[in-house]
Amino acid sequence: MRIGAHVDSTDPLAEASARAAEAVQFFLSDPQGWKAPKPRADADRLRAAEVDLYVHAPYVINVATLNNRIRIPSRKLLLAHAQAAAAIGAKGLIVHGGHVSAGDDPAVGFDNWRKTFAYAADSGGFGVPVLIENTAGGDNACARRLDALARLWDALGDHEVGFCLDTCHAHAGGEDLLGLVDRVKAITGRIDLVHANNSKGAFNSGQDRHDNLGGGTIDPDLVVAVIRGADAPVVVETPGGVDGQGADIAFLRERLGTEIRTA
Ligand SMILES: [Zn+2]
Repeated sequence: MRIGAHVDSTDPLAEASARAAEAVQFFLSDPQGWKAPKPRADADRLRAAEVDLYVHAPYVINVATLNNRIRIPSRKLLLAHAQAAAAIGAKGLIVHGGHVSAGDDPAVGFDNWRKTFAYAADSGGFGVPVLIENTAGGDNACARRLDALARLWDALGDHEVGFCLDTCHAHAGGEDLLGLVDRVKAITGRIDLVHANNSKGAFNSGQDRHDNLGGGTIDPDLVVAVIRGADAPVVVETPGGVDGQGADIAFLRERLGTEIRTA
């Protein structure tokens, strides 16, 4: 089982070795901005690396919204990030499920996701697996609760779509971690990546506030159980930099009984 962390994008491979991580996730541009990612000077080195790479799309992306001025640029930015992720040999591009606004028809939001995948297919394809991530908050989210996730997967139909399960978001979003993997897989058929995070916010608080695995409101054994059930690579998106994340990775390796596989 590959275990890693979300790290600064300047030198992700150095961040990986500092944490003894077998996987890293990072942004390719300002996560709060609309700028398309620039080609990376270290692309060859990244492609050749033993470490598995994951790219997280900017938070501003919301392909579900009925607002054209957000949805259309979101679609384009998602495709640009997917192509940039492919150029560095990433295993996947993670993007939040997004939401519609209060009073808008959620069905249109789900259909907007379908149109996003159709648009990408018409534009030569994403070139990398796109993993939709569950989110913690909001009443009109496409991937907070599993009833919405089921409607999203129905709308996406035959498109090739991956899923990233975030334990903090599930707990804060109001989905019990006990038995969650089976309930998710019954909908998506797959879990491609686990974001293993504890939660500062309480169950169903709607708060997206990550904590280290030994802190927070989630029993860390439940996080371990989710990882075992998912049988997918793991990225911690926890605070504390090298020390905090390194300790979280070591905790997971100890509980999961996995040896590090890269030098
Ligand atoms: Zn996450």
